[in-house]
Amino acid sequence: MGEGHPECPARLYAIDDQLIAQRIAEFLYTVEAPPASTEQLERVHDPDYVRFIFERAPKSGMVHVDHETLMNPHSLDAALRAAGASVAAVDLVLSGKVLNAFCAVRPPGHHAERDRAMGFCLFNNIAVGAAHALTDGGLDRVAVLDFDVHHGNGSEHILQGNDQVLYCSVYQHPFYPPLAPGLPADNIVRCPLPAGSDGDAYRKAILDVWIPRLREFQPQMLLLSAGFDAHYLDPLADMRLTENDFQWITQTLVDFAGEHCGGRLVSTLEGGYDLGALARSACVHIKALMGV
Ligand SMILES: [Zn+2]
Repeated sequence: MGEGHPECPARLYAIDDQLIAQRIAEFLYTVEAPPASTEQLERVHDPDYVRFIFERAPKSGMVHVDHETLMNPHSLDAALRAAGASVAAVDLVLSGKVLNAFCAVRPPGHHAERDRAMGFCLFNNIAVGAAHALTDGGLDRVAVLDFDVHHGNGSEHILQGNDQVLYCSVYQHPFYPPLAPGLPADNIVRCPLPAGSDGDAYRKAILDVWIPRLREFQPQMLLLSAGFDAHYLDPLADMRLTENDFQWITQTLVDFAGEHCGGRLVSTLEGGYDLGALARSACVHIKALMGV
């Protein structure tokens, strides 16, 4: 996204390095993400918007698609593969080849609305995965769970009113993005927390709000918008989570998936901008998915 931008390639290198250093990489089944098809994108984005992103992609240099979201000549391929990763992960999980999957992707997706790029996001990766699970995957109900520190306005915009999806988020509020008060639809669950909240506040929101709604909804698969920018070291936000808190969140959701969803869970990377904190948090997340 340009020199000095926090949503940078080093984020994924840092996660890879940590996976190698902790000797986790050798136990992972790794798949190259395929690009999402136009058909898969248009399940959640307006065709005019998909066309706009394709046409806006530069041959050289950088272009803005939003005041803080940019594209270079490689961004379109990266964004297609970030969305395609969710699709491939859903297919792998539904085929039974793997129990769960983590998509180490960028750009992130949860701010991208049906017809608008926003907050470093071009396509809504998690929504593309959810839509795929409900169409080609043949599922009737999926839950999208978003613990990125920023509210997933794009996911909410796309998923609101879809009674096959339950969308739950926990996020710093007031903060980016600006949010209209009131719930837009019954399938949307919001847990706003004030700046400075710690792991106990997250535990309470998840146990008291998310889990009862999940039990009631009985999803057949969990899809996680896994942002690690609620970490206390993150430069873009003001929460106080530690690696242990991300371990607890992941384990709680893995346990729910095990009890109610046949273990089916797909997680995709959203934010996290302190490279060390991101890498360590992603590792504890992946280890909890692996059951170690
Ligand atoms: Zn974020």
